[in-house]
Amino acid sequence: MQTMQTALKTSIATVSIAGDFREKLAAISRAGYTGIEIFEQDFVGYDGSPVDVGWLVGDFGLEVMLFQPFRDFEGLPEPYRSRAFDRAERKFDLMNDLGVDLVLVCSNISPAALGGIDRAADDFAELGERAKAKNIRIGYEALAWGRHINDHRDAWEVVRRANHSNVGIILDSFHTLGRKIDPDTIRSIPGDKIFFVQLADAPRIDMDLFYWSRHFRNMPGEGDLAVVDFMRAVAATGYDGPLSLEIFNDQFRGGSPLTIARDGHRSLISLMDDVCRLEPDIRLNVAPMPPRSRCHGFEFIEFTSNEHEAEGLAAILKALGFELAGHHVAKQVARWCQGDINILVNTEETGFAHSAYQAHGTSVCDMALRVDNASDTIARAGELGAEIVKTADIAGELLIPAIKGVGGGIVHFVDHESELATLWEVDFTPVDGTTLFEGAGLRSVDHLAQTMKYEEMLTWTLFYTSIFDLDKVAMVDVVDPGGLVRSRAIQNTSGKLRITLNGAENQNTLAGRFISQTFGATVQHIAFGCEDIFVTAQQLSERGFAALSMSANYYDDLGARFGLEESFLNRLRDMNILYDEDDKGSFFQLYSRAWGGELFFEIVQRVEGYQGYGAPNAPFRIAAQKRELG
Ligand code: MG
Ligand code: MG
Repeated sequence: MQTMQTALKTSIATVSIAGDFREKLAAISRAGYTGIEIFEQDFVGYDGSPVDVGWLVGDFGLEVMLFQPFRDFEGLPEPYRSRAFDRAERKFDLMNDLGVDLVLVCSNISPAALGGIDRAADDFAELGERAKAKNIRIGYEALAWGRHINDHRDAWEVVRRANHSNVGIILDSFHTLGRKIDPDTIRSIPGDKIFFVQLADAPRIDMDLFYWSRHFRNMPGEGDLAVVDFMRAVAATGYDGPLSLEIFNDQFRGGSPLTIARDGHRSLISLMDDVCRLEPDIRLNVAPMPPRSRCHGFEFIEFTSNEHEAEGLAAILKALGFELAGHHVAKQVARWCQGDINILVNTEETGFAHSAYQAHGTSVCDMALRVDNASDTIARAGELGAEIVKTADIAGELLIPAIKGVGGGIVHFVDHESELATLWEVDFTPVDGTTLFEGAGLRSVDHLAQTMKYEEMLTWTLFYTSIFDLDKVAMVDVVDPGGLVRSRAIQNTSGKLRITLNGAENQNTLAGRFISQTFGATVQHIAFGCEDIFVTAQQLSERGFAALSMSANYYDDLGARFGLEESFLNRLRDMNILYDEDDKGSFFQLYSRAWGGELFFEIVQRVEGYQGYGAPNAPFRIAAQKRELG
């Protein structure tokens, strides 16, 4: 691990988040940044002089690190050239009032601009001289859509030839990676000539570069660009200045300023941790933290309920083949088991579970993940800004470390290295006469589906992928008759932890209705894995399990899509089993009816490494559920 020197300097462009100028500063300061990039428009509406603006930023414990942008400067013929220099001089005075010494000059997009590296270099040499007189430094950035300079390699050549102490280059990951320029070309730039580094990620979308950049940028790790490789190359130059987020995103501009600011800070810390691990020979200003936590599945999933509704939940758990296996030593918590699955039902009338019940009704309020090392997981989550839950220390009970997760739900961590391995022996009294929990053949939790508002999806994707060793799968659109639901799975290579994040854009979709009717509960369904879906379906039906009834049309379509044999199709139809195939294998699904309002269970069987979640079946399943809910 790296030795810690001074702390990492983090910054964010004020344009990246919503709010008026003061609100933005408050959010940026609370999220823990060192400073900001300031856009003139950001404080034009603020009632105070530039000097006041500088003081205000300082009052929030922040520094103005960069003033931007200064546009359409280099390569101009007269009289435009002289005017550009005059404009620059006025900005230098404004910057002195604000208390910022670095300005971003982006490459010229004006049709009047003339090409030529030397012409541009001469302009910058002169600008550098004028800037020096006012204690200002100039950073030159190649816009991906610049008229003559649109590549950081050319921008660097301009800076190199300008050969002035007050002129350097500004790198922006979007402009380099968006144009598919090899980031390793950055490694040959001297670190002290890189004046500032801007970071942004983006989903890979084939569209006009300008439009893509202005509307779809997101935080490092939230998109598909190789921001880690970009940052490794920057780090290799010896650059140790600020890392700044410059994010233009329509959603972020309407989102909660604090959430977006925190996501950004988390993304920078996580990014630099990745860079440290991949470039062990480079000394970086990064606090060491444990690696991403490896997860081996769900230790338990806990429902909150009341006495009465818990009876209904117990009935469906029994129908699913679960057996009552124990009770908590001190609390009203029942443990239901089957295979490797533990479901807890908490009917306490005080405490967190009870508050969750009051807010959302019977719902999942808590889960525990099996990890390699629970205390390392908590340490990493803490470094990444997760909220650590302080649980009461009760004699005779284990303290299970936990953080706040989606929708305020709790995520506990259990490992086999510490006393946490004795959780079931210490905290639970077994029920006499329980069997081996063979039940109906359910073996493990295959996946958990968490529903949220669409605009929260990036936040929670980053939460999971920065703390845990997980990959994100490409987003799919699920067509609900009431609107679109975006779905993204995050999963680890072992397949032991799979979570689908579903983003509802409106309340007419099943997912949207779930959010509104449960006042923001998050776990909409739990999917259990089994080894033979036909055997399991038979046992479930004998136990009185009520399957979601699929339409005859679904099976006709299925037969046509995959060329299935009639007898096989009939077996699926008789049992209401859904079917899918991918290039690796096949997938079987069986759904429960919606239970207790909106929550439901799914039973799946994965054959030969099928990786998906049955997305092609989702519209038919949703239609069937909506028919049932009426
Ligand atoms: Mg930029
Ligand atoms: Mg599912």
